[in-house]
Amino acid sequence: MFFSIKKIIGKLLNLGFTDAFGNDLNQKHVVNFSYLMFCVSCLVMIVVFLFRQMPSIAFFSFVGLIIGLVGLRYNYMGYFSRAQLLMPIVKICQITILSLFYFGSASGFHWFFVNVIAYAFIVFRVDQRFTKYWVVTGSVLLFLVCEFLNPKGVYLTAFEQAVVLTIVFLSVCFNFAVVINLVMSRLKAVNSHLRTLAERDELTGLSNRRKVLADAVNIFADSVINRELCVFSIVDLDHFKKINDTFGHEAGDLVLAQVATMMGSVIRSQDEIGRYGGEEFIVIMRNTNLKNAEVVMERLRDAVENMLIETEQGIVIPVTISAGLASIGPNISRYEEILAMADKALYTAKRNGRNRISVHSSFQN
Ligand code: GH3
Ligand code: MG
Ligand code: MG
Repeated sequence: MFFSIKKIIGKLLNLGFTDAFGNDLNQKHVVNFSYLMFCVSCLVMIVVFLFRQMPSIAFFSFVGLIIGLVGLRYNYMGYFSRAQLLMPIVKICQITILSLFYFGSASGFHWFFVNVIAYAFIVFRVDQRFTKYWVVTGSVLLFLVCEFLNPKGVYLTAFEQAVVLTIVFLSVCFNFAVVINLVMSRLKAVNSHLRTLAERDELTGLSNRRKVLADAVNIFADSVINRELCVFSIVDLDHFKKINDTFGHEAGDLVLAQVATMMGSVIRSQDEIGRYGGEEFIVIMRNTNLKNAEVVMERLRDAVENMLIETEQGIVIPVTISAGLASIGPNISRYEEILAMADKALYTAKRNGRNRISVHSSFQN
């Protein structure tokens, strides 16, 4: 129940926006939220004042509700700047008229200008600063007018004025809490999105060089501390230049992406794989001896050899890989040393005819 309400609110806040990571999504959320709050408050006032048989204020609130719905529709149709500007204008008019002619300043209703000022600071961008200053200045001036004119509340009793004041206080607190929550959760979402962008290789979808080398440092350190074995492998596509030259660079990209996907699906869940650069990949197998690593890599080699990669013209591109393996061992203090050994083994695999796995011989387990 709670989650479905949260889902509905989430949908309403995202009304009209499809780009989940757009730069001004915070502002858009706040605009939608302000309209939602505005419409709900108008609806409540319509019910309350119809019930109390005060048609003029009920009608005034009804007009407010219609304008609020128009603002939401603007957002839905993508007219964000219109919706953005309409909100403070409507809100300023509503607060001023209700404070001066209906509720009086003793009700404290004019304190809602705080919301309008906060809205202006959050929603208007740097290039809209003049609009922002106008909204803020207008709000402050009208607040002072309401405060110093001290109009009498013709519609509310003293008790009702106290109730309105409490509602104003609670609703301003609620507004701030929701807005802070919106901003924080969006910051978190954007942070994790940026991290993904910084760690993924765009073409293959695997970890990029930076991420896989960071993993290499961590796994190497863990293995040394826990006295566990770990194996590094460098994988290289065979005669890839020829694939590019024969079928074109685009077909080369297709081969890289498909081989990467295949390798990502064949390695075990505890292994890490990433693009080292060009047509080279690193596979890191933690807590594994060379024999088992060789089995994993042989499976990988076999899977790639049996792939059926077709160009758009239906031509099948034959593709194979070679890999060099090396394991952590005595006298090794840096992960780069294992990588260099794996590279040497890869060179041997290439020299021996390609489409094969070669193990660096010094530390057989
Ligand atoms: P070997 O079997 O000895 O590894 O031969 P090779 O042709 O695979 O190796 P070489 O280093 O001569 O060529 C690698 C080629 O990979 C050259 C480069 O243009 C190509 N390449 C590197 N990155 C990409 C890429 O992202 N997309 C495409 N299409 N080609 C790439
Ligand atoms: Mg290469
Ligand atoms: Mg190659």
